[in-house]
Amino acid sequence: MKIRVLGCNGAIGNGGGTTALLVDHDVLIDAGTGVAVLGDDELARIDHVFLTHSHLDHMAYLPLMIDAVGEARESPLVVHASRATLDILQKHVFNNLIWPDFTRIPSADAPGVRFEALEAGERVVLNGRSVVALPACHSVPAMGYALCSDEASLAFSGDTTTNPAFWSALAALPGLRYVIVETAFRDEQIALAHAAHHYCPSLIANDLRGVELRAELLISHLKPPHGAQILEELRAALPDIAPDALRALQAGEVLEV
Ligand SMILES: [Zn+2]
Ligand SMILES: [Zn+2]
Repeated sequence: MKIRVLGCNGAIGNGGGTTALLVDHDVLIDAGTGVAVLGDDELARIDHVFLTHSHLDHMAYLPLMIDAVGEARESPLVVHASRATLDILQKHVFNNLIWPDFTRIPSADAPGVRFEALEAGERVVLNGRSVVALPACHSVPAMGYALCSDEASLAFSGDTTTNPAFWSALAALPGLRYVIVETAFRDEQIALAHAAHHYCPSLIANDLRGVELRAELLISHLKPPHGAQILEELRAALPDIAPDALRALQAGEVLEV
């Protein structure tokens, strides 16, 4: 499967979008502002959205895209997330105040969106492609995801802070090729990283102690003005990782597993 990075920044600005990964033409992992690069025909072909969590930078375009593609689609868009995340969306977004309740519109029998709960460790198989929910540790209920074909895998941390369970779950994935991990903060912001439940370079280095990682490490959720500094700190904190196996994830690039 092909994974196209629509957006991977930790904030908007300078044309960069927030987290959204398009898998082939029909599956979206998170629906941040990166989704804005898609045309209406591309939006209408998306059948499944897997959300890591309920924060706006990961789901801002979900309500808008459901509305945009409604007339072009014959079946509901299926949104997969933890039960806790789905409950937050229902209560705080699809509540007929912030946005119409598309779980019942246009009708309860043929709604615009259908919610499917899954928990960390569960696997959803879509036409031979596996999406596996991975543990995350964030300020709200959160998960990461692995995308697995028969031979190869990509793992995505979602938003998380210190999370040994994520790194140990990687051992079970076939042919791990890429690990996309967030690093939202610089090391001088470690107190903020703890408070906001994000990674900074030294926290990743702590988690990776004793972990044998045979995959490319791609960094996401960088805040645009500090991306270069965060990468420098990561390279210093992870001297065992070859320079060409550690880099920033780029919007527009396509990864294959
Ligand atoms: Zn978040
Ligand atoms: Zn985020």
